[in-house]
Amino acid sequence: MTYLTVPISADNIEELKVQATKALSLGAEMLELRSDYLVGLDLEMFKEAFEFLKTLELPIIVTCRDAREGGQNNLEESLRLQILTEAIKLGADYVDCEYINYKRHEFSTEIEAALEENGFTKLILSIHNFESPFTDLRMVYESIVSICSHAVVKIVYKANHINDCFECFDLYRENDSKLVVLCMSQAGLITRVLAKKFGAEFTFASLDDDCQTASGQISISTMKNLYRYDLIDKDTQLYGIIAAPVGHSMSPAIHNACFKKAGMNKLYLPILLEGDSLEFNEFMDMLRDRPWLGFKGFSVSLPHKENTLDYLKNKGQELESLALEIGSINTITISEASNASGFNTDYKGAMDAIAAAVGGSVDWFRGKNAAVIGAGGVARAIIAGLRDRGCHVTIYNRTIARCEKLAREFGAKAAPLEKIGSDDWNPDLIVNCTSVGMSPNVGDSVVSIENITSDMVVFDTVYNPVETKLLGNAKAVGAKTVSGVDMFVAQAMEQFIHFTGEKGDAEIMRKTVFDWL
Ligand code: NAP
Repeated sequence: MTYLTVPISADNIEELKVQATKALSLGAEMLELRSDYLVGLDLEMFKEAFEFLKTLELPIIVTCRDAREGGQNNLEESLRLQILTEAIKLGADYVDCEYINYKRHEFSTEIEAALEENGFTKLILSIHNFESPFTDLRMVYESIVSICSHAVVKIVYKANHINDCFECFDLYRENDSKLVVLCMSQAGLITRVLAKKFGAEFTFASLDDDCQTASGQISISTMKNLYRYDLIDKDTQLYGIIAAPVGHSMSPAIHNACFKKAGMNKLYLPILLEGDSLEFNEFMDMLRDRPWLGFKGFSVSLPHKENTLDYLKNKGQELESLALEIGSINTITISEASNASGFNTDYKGAMDAIAAAVGGSVDWFRGKNAAVIGAGGVARAIIAGLRDRGCHVTIYNRTIARCEKLAREFGAKAAPLEKIGSDDWNPDLIVNCTSVGMSPNVGDSVVSIENITSDMVVFDTVYNPVETKLLGNAKAVGAKTVSGVDMFVAQAMEQFIHFTGEKGDAEIMRKTVFDWL
């Protein structure tokens, strides 16, 4: 069992009671009494705190952290040692002692004497690096085990990049039990969730977003609801979104909701991958070298869609032909043999969303005039999809050189924005692929109401707000509309099929997106 542990970091007894009771109600499986947070801590105060926690009948870790290892209130060494030995006498399940202190004879002698008297308590020897990974993680682990083979080893370091997390997973793989390795920072978030998959003795989650005792800690409700902690086991298959930034992404919420609905032992995580192609290639190589991690697929967002294409091309991996032409990949699947395949579900999602609005027919597109506004990444994918289905495309863009280049590539016409609504303006389909109309500029629209007629289909890729000014105008004149949410859900549905071979639940995805927005 990997105990989901909530640190209790109150500065007084009353607050401690509130925090601990709340942690119990939220489903904590163990509490960590961070006694160093208690202001004015002495032995009596500690006993009162500990006795209260005992009444909640959860296992307890007692920690009285040295300031050099992140402790609060700069407590005297003699008091810290007294608290730990008292905790052992009182029957704490675990006491956490810093490795740097335990290495010293006077510390280890007293702790071991107390442990001998009470055979119940387990000793945790911990070490922290708040700046970076350790130079040699294996050596750190072996040094701790060599001075105390019965201890649970807890190693916490800062991941400055997602690629710093791999050696943490390697250490779990090389050692069977009595180990906790966690990475601080947002990039290290996955180590906190995956500790259970790799058999860690415990992992931590904060009481809420304001109560973190370490950087990158996530709240217990996020751990249990979004990441479905209770269901994680060694066989859980992993997916994720690779992006930077990644915190705003709706993808973990929608894919995890669909995995849950389908009862699949699959988990979708945010992968903060900072840097450029060098870091991306390193990530992919390290991941594919470790099939035992269980990663089976990824969504890819900015800034790595082109990096993904280049990586897969250079490594001779499978690529969807239209994705190759579009020049970007937003979906990767990883096979049992660690081969990667790349797809673009943006164009497919957009085409599906339009088809749904016109009655589900793929034949609708052939011979239709489409006005695509914008010439960026999303426009490129949509233009490729429209051309593939037989539309005549005109691209309107602020920077004319950019849209002329795109038009040449895809056999389309190019025009400046000023040409919208001019004499030859007669589209069956309008697609906004610019950010115009996106929150907070919700009053803006690339096409004014007088240039929209009831026989047109109007599609806005912007999804925040769900109904943009452009879509509001289109509805007002009786035109059919397609929203950015329709496209987002359709591309995610397509990804879900790539990930699982099964259809996702569009209604759950849509509801999750609306809740998120
Ligand atoms: P991008 O590559 O940066 O391209 C942005 C495009 O918008 C360019 O053509 C740019 O014109 C134009 N533009 C930006 N500001 C403008 C303004 N004030 N007036 C006129 N044109 C302007 O961005 P992208 O990745 O293609 O994304 C475009 C939009 O797609 C995003 O804003 C987002 O809302 C939407 N999106 C939707 C989904 C979905 O699933 N629904 C997914 C991804 C993105 P210039 O060439 O002149 O700079």
